[in-house]
Formats: sequence, structure tokens, C-alpha cells
Amino acid sequence: MSAHPIRYLPPGSTLGVLGGGQLGRMFVHAAQAMGYFTAVLDADVESPAGRVSHHHIQTGYEDPDGLARLAALSDAVTTEFENVPAVSLAALAGQCPVAPAARAVAVAQDRAQEKAHFVRCGVPCAPYAVIETAEQLAAVSADLLPGILKTARLGYDGKGQVRVQTAAELAAAWASVGSVPCVLEKMLPLQLECSVIVARGADGATVHLPVQRNLHRDGILAVTEVYEGNLPPALTSQAAAAAISIASGLDYVGVLCVEFFVLQDGSLVVNEIAPRPHNSGHYSQNACDISQFELQVRTLAGLPLTQPRQHSAAVMLNLLGDLWFAHGETAQTPPWAEVLKLPGTHLHLYGKTLAKHGRKMGHLNITAPTAQQARATALQAAALLGIAPF
Ligand code: ATP
Ligand code: MG
Repeated sequence: MSAHPIRYLPPGSTLGVLGGGQLGRMFVHAAQAMGYFTAVLDADVESPAGRVSHHHIQTGYEDPDGLARLAALSDAVTTEFENVPAVSLAALAGQCPVAPAARAVAVAQDRAQEKAHFVRCGVPCAPYAVIETAEQLAAVSADLLPGILKTARLGYDGKGQVRVQTAAELAAAWASVGSVPCVLEKMLPLQLECSVIVARGADGATVHLPVQRNLHRDGILAVTEVYEGNLPPALTSQAAAAAISIASGLDYVGVLCVEFFVLQDGSLVVNEIAPRPHNSGHYSQNACDISQFELQVRTLAGLPLTQPRQHSAAVMLNLLGDLWFAHGETAQTPPWAEVLKLPGTHLHLYGKTLAKHGRKMGHLNITAPTAQQARATALQAAALLGIAPF
């Protein structure tokens, strides 16, 4: 039991977040809408969350003074990205309630620990080997090739990953990432990808959003579609049950995203977890009666969790910086006014000053009474923005 367990914090209390990116910004928006004060720790003066928070502590994530100020200002603290140093969370936990706990975040930060947890929970994941030494590299079974070498830590958006066909390519790939601890995963024949957002309270109560179907392009989430008939019902209940068992097995408090692969044969395989709201859950802001960010506020403030209800079919388009360069090397604002003429379009921009290729600038949620309408509008919006059809 933590020295500072999560307890009920009435509106008017201050909720803190480590990290000032877009996820922190949307957490801040949700918290403020419910009458909470907010504190963000991020060194970047222009960080998306820092800009909208009541308090912005501008220090690094490991700065003891910054962490002490965050703890002093906040009645409870959460995190918005998994690479927040687990030691920082542990330091905060000495002073105030922290959710998710450092221990759970540490599992999500390390692909080897993460996979061991999946195995413990009895949820199938891709066949894999941990590679930390030259001996382990030499001992890798040929069954795991072709495969994907992933650094155990600090990967995101497909970074820190190398696809390898042969043992020689594997050895070269491991050298190319600096021989840091890695996981080699067997390359699986994917039919599709999906994910589930779970929220778990300090009392163990668990709710989840509907299962999302995700399309990745170049290792980055491009499109999420969520509506009835999108996925076989047997699969969605299996994914939800697996996600809940993964959260419960960590004694998790907060919002957790569990990403899955569905293989060609229809079987479900867990890919990875993120100890926070996730890009694939953004549709919930406009298509559900409780968003993933409100769920995060509720878990942190010890508020009750009720099962979210999706009231509209939804498609989410990620808005990457590339869209600003659809017409050449000078950045141009995408045609928002034309996009927003389309019914059921909801624009979310993160307030980032500079557009860059591959940078997440915002997302567009499209809601409609039917899946067909949501898809049709999303395809029109995509065409206006220069996003390839899906
Ligand atoms: P993010 O943090 O953005 O989710 P990531 O860098 O953590 O990405 P993964 O989720 O591990 O990366 O992989 C990125 C994508 O690569 C997956 O969504 C999937 O499309 C593909 N991929 C990863 N592992 C495998 C595998 N074992 N077999 C087939 N495809 C895979
Ligand atoms: Mg992923």
C-alpha cells in the first residue's frame, strides 16, 4: 500500500501531471472543465499542456526541486508519457498520491518486463526473445525470423525498431542500435490492429471504452475507426477481457491503453501497453459520453467510474505535420474552414508552433449517426487535407 493512496479530491483541488505534451494538455482541459486546478511539469516554455495549465513548472523531469514544487502544488499527480523516469514518480509518491504507480509505469517502459507481464496474465503475445548479451544474440532461435528487433526502452512511433530477415541482419541491427537491451519479436501476419482503453480506480472498479480499430502508416497511428460491426463481437469481448486482466494484474490505477494485433487466422495477440490515455482513444472526446481524459481525471481524483457509452459512430484522423507541407516546403495552414463545413467534424489542435514531418499537430474526430456516414465524411476530410484514403 502506498503511503499516499488515491482518495476523493473534490473539484477545487489541484491535479498535477508530469509531462507537457498533447496528452497532458487534453488532461488539463478535462480537469479544468470539472473545476480542478492543474499543475504541469515540463521544461519547454511552449509545451502544449504548460500553456493551458494554471501552474507550469519549467524544469526537467528529474529535477528534484521541480518535482518537489509539483508535489507541493498538487493534491495528486499523474503522468502523460511512459518515458517519464520511474524514479521521478517514485520520488513524488513519497510526497503525494501518484497514479499510475511507478511500479506499473516501469513495466510499460520496458518491453521485456511488459511481455513477461502478458505471459503472467495468460494473454498471448508475439513469440519473442530478450537480447541483452552477445550470448543471447547467438542463441536466438531461427523460428523468430523474420522478426522485428525493438529496443527494450524508449521506443515510440516505430522508432528504435529494425526489421530483420536473417541472423546476420539481426546481428547488424543489434549493433546499429548500440547493442542496448532489446526484444526480438517474430514478424506476425497481421489482419488488423486494435486497442482498448481501460480505466481502473483505486477501489479496483474497472470500465473500458469500446474496442478501437487502428490503421498505422510508417509506424505512426494514422486512422482510428470505432463503430458497431467494425470488429467481430467475439474479438471485442476477448480484447476487453484481456485488457482488464492486464490492468488488474498490475493493480493499476489510472487509464491504460492495451494495443493488440489480430492475426490472419483471427487470433488475438497483445502488442504493448501505454500507461496513460492514447492517441487511439481520442475519438472518445466527441463520440462517447465520457472521454478517456475525463476517465483519467476521475481515477486520479478518486471519483466514481461509470461505463462510458459511445453515442456516435466515430473516425479519428491524426493530423501530422506533413499536412502543412502538402503544397511544398513552405508550411501552409491546412484548409480548416473547408474541413469544418463537413457535418460532425471536431478539430483538436495541440497549440504547437512549428509543424514538422511526422510531428503530431492535432487530430480530427468525425462523428455521425451511422458508420457509413462517419466514413464518408472522414474520407472527404482526408481528401481535403491530403491524407491518403483508407
Ligand atoms: P507506438 O508507441 O506508436 O504504438 P511503437 O514504436 O511502440 O509504436 P509497436 O507498437 O511495437 O511500436 O510497433 C509499431 C507497429 O509495427 C505496430 O503497430 C505494427 O503495425 C508493426 N508491428 C510491430 N510488431 C510487429 C510484429 N511482431 N509483427 C508484425 N507487425 C508488427
Ligand atoms: Mg504501438
